Amino acid sequence: MNAPIAIIGTGIAGLSAAQALHAAGQDIELFDKSRGSGGRMASKRSDAGSLDLGAQYFTARDRRFVEVVQQWQARGWVAEWQPSLYNAQDGQLSASPDEQLRWVGSPRMSAITRAMLGALPVKFSCRITEVFRGDRYWSLLDAEGNSHGPYSHVIVATPAPQASALLAAAPKLAGTAASVIMDPTWAVALGFDSPLDTRVEGCFVQDSPLDWLARNPSKPGRDTHLDTWVLHASSVWSRQNLDLPKEAVIEQLHGAFAELIGCAVPPPSFTLAHRWLYARPAQAHQWGALADADLGLYACGDWCLSGRVEGAWLSGQDAARRLLEHLQ
Ligand SMILES: Cc1cc2nc3c(=O)[nH]c(=O)nc-3n(C[C@H](O)[C@H](O)[C@H](O)COP(=O)(O)OP(=O)(O)OC[C@H]3O[C@@H](n4cnc5c(N)ncnc54)[C@H](O)[C@@H]3O)c2cc1C
Repeated sequence: MNAPIAIIGTGIAGLSAAQALHAAGQDIELFDKSRGSGGRMASKRSDAGSLDLGAQYFTARDRRFVEVVQQWQARGWVAEWQPSLYNAQDGQLSASPDEQLRWVGSPRMSAITRAMLGALPVKFSCRITEVFRGDRYWSLLDAEGNSHGPYSHVIVATPAPQASALLAAAPKLAGTAASVIMDPTWAVALGFDSPLDTRVEGCFVQDSPLDWLARNPSKPGRDTHLDTWVLHASSVWSRQNLDLPKEAVIEQLHGAFAELIGCAVPPPSFTLAHRWLYARPAQAHQWGALADADLGLYACGDWCLSGRVEGAWLSGQDAARRLLEHLQ
């Protein structure tokens, strides 16, 4: 019997592995607890249009990732974002132009993972709670009590805290994943009926509850009737205010935004708050991907490398490469 390979997580890491394995002729099946793909690169559809609440943009430095981003650009999945960039420090705004190429999904961040997924077999709204191995094959158990399988190999492509439980069959891998600390981020979106009177389109913020803000319509292809802004709280503020009600988070971050943006800020006609419990790994690692090749269990994700979109994609490639090497 030729059992397929199971991949848990349809963020960019899981889909990167899926594409590499599919291209090598392997059968795969993907699972995600969410209703769609993208994970932290997902976009939220709202009354104010679609909003990138997680990853804001990404950069490409590694040659392999540069090449793939060029292909995505040729297919129209990504476009360059050239914001008018600022720094905010000690209450002062200063222009901060640089030469960095910044990429975004087009017309929304989730366009990338949606296109990568294509027609690959996937089960959404399916939270995997257990990964276990019989004599030869793997099975998965979901939160509804259904079992899935058999699979020849399993790739866990979730954030580290969720991966450690799913890696229990390989205690060393589970221990490594459990050692990774991931910082939370509160994200707030504000929509204004008329455009704010500012040139700011993206801003790195210091000494504030906020650490980043972006003007969503300044990204290519965004379709919205409002001037929508995405604000990210710093990880310190987010951790200190983890259980604050959403209304209070919106009020406080709106206040911090109004204080630093340097123009009149009317009451927003649209607000939304989203808490990312596992937004970014607190530090980068050099693991590539985790593997117990004899067992056939692998883990990948941004936490194995840089904590960025590029790191997640590279980690997925690494998991697939190691698995394919072991098949030969
Ligand atoms: C607020 C914020 C801002 C960011 N800004 C940037 C940025 O500007 N630039 C940049 O490069 N990166 C940024 N990042 C980081 C970037 O988004 C991530 O590095 C990258 O998207 C991680 O991809 P991944 O596939 O490793 O994980 P994820 O995208 O988290 O994918 C994991 C998937 O696994 C699923 N899952 C989890 N548990 C289970 C389970 N038990 N069963 C089934 N499915 C499960 C989840 O639903 C999810 O879809 C940001 C992240 C956040 C949150």
